[in-house]
Amino acid sequence: MPEISRCLNHPEREAALKCEKHGRGLCARCLQENPRCFDPELYCKFRPQCLIHFQEKELRRQAARAGQAG
Ligand SMILES: [Zn+2]
Repeated sequence: MPEISRCLNHPEREAALKCEKHGRGLCARCLQENPRCFDPELYCKFRPQCLIHFQEKELRRQAARAGQAG
């Protein structure tokens, strides 16, 4: 049976997305509030398709847009 990956911050929750490189995941809540690449400094061959990374960029873009309002 495949192991269910858990949220890195919330071990009691199932991970919604998983880092392919580290095999660690984040739950839906963490993805909404604080999606973070686990190793942003290092080259990662999965990064172009990493949804955690994508979500992180998306959140930053939204924040930038909100900051520009007004
Ligand atoms: Zn979490």
